[in-house]
Amino acid sequence: MRFRAPRWSLKGVTVANLAEEWAELLARRPEFRETLAVYGELIACWAGWPADRPAAGPWSAAACRGSWERGVPLLAESRPALGADDLEETLGLAMEQLASVREDLVPALRRLAEAWDRGALGPAAFFPERGRVGSPAVGELSGLPEDAVAFLAHATLRPALERHFAPARGHLDAHVWALGVCPFCGDPPGFSDVLEDGQRRLACHLCGGGWPFARVRCPFCGTEQSGELTRLEPEERDQGYVIIGCGRCRAYLKELDRRVRWNGQSALVEDWGSPHLDLVAVRAGYWRPVPSLVQLARLA
Ligand SMILES: [Zn+2]
Ligand SMILES: [Zn+2]
Repeated sequence: MRFRAPRWSLKGVTVANLAEEWAELLARRPEFRETLAVYGELIACWAGWPADRPAAGPWSAAACRGSWERGVPLLAESRPALGADDLEETLGLAMEQLASVREDLVPALRRLAEAWDRGALGPAAFFPERGRVGSPAVGELSGLPEDAVAFLAHATLRPALERHFAPARGHLDAHVWALGVCPFCGDPPGFSDVLEDGQRRLACHLCGGGWPFARVRCPFCGTEQSGELTRLEPEERDQGYVIIGCGRCRAYLKELDRRVRWNGQSALVEDWGSPHLDLVAVRAGYWRPVPSLVQLARLA
């Protein structure tokens, strides 16, 4: 694998509308334009993903429901047909970005590139597993820490998994899935939305999926003890946003109340576009399983 520049094309795939949303968010928060340039590059790279790869999975309503009733995310039942070549461009870009904020990881990234080139690691090595994102083999072969592997997975897999699960989205109904990981790919939630009807919806950044979840429960450890969940309210100008930290597992999630802020963008854009809230959470002693740039670049 060579570290190389991506092709800057903006062909129409579902991830393409993220570019427009991202531009709007940066117009609202121009002070983050430089810090968050990495995300703009990723979104542009995703938009160039070929519309016909991989073939969308053959998801029947019955098969999806059967899987969910057993508490198994769909990715564990059927994986997308992805070759190393499919991901090489996005993975190469993500590795360069990681190298640009974390020079100390460059030797590990070189080892990752070597392992990828000799076929010791492929796309499935970045899929979520129980309690983690990515296979332990990635860390063992490269020396990369878990949060760096999780970043690479999120930077790389979104267009492919979004496409793979597109036909399954409509099969999810409100009561079939109660776990704190994505019913489609098994990733932990990256953001939380409170919708117009007051229901909470967790968002998965890895595949673009979402699922309803109880507002009184921590998705990461499952606690429902009142008093365990702390709400950190940001400043006035961030009305509608809140950081929810769990006293039991110390994980946090940012949440946007769409009833207060109706002009918010999609969950991924809102999450990536609010690094100041990650800073507040990290300084308060909380962590998140899906790493933010703040955590990766150790800005806190
Ligand atoms: Zn997912
Ligand atoms: Zn918790």
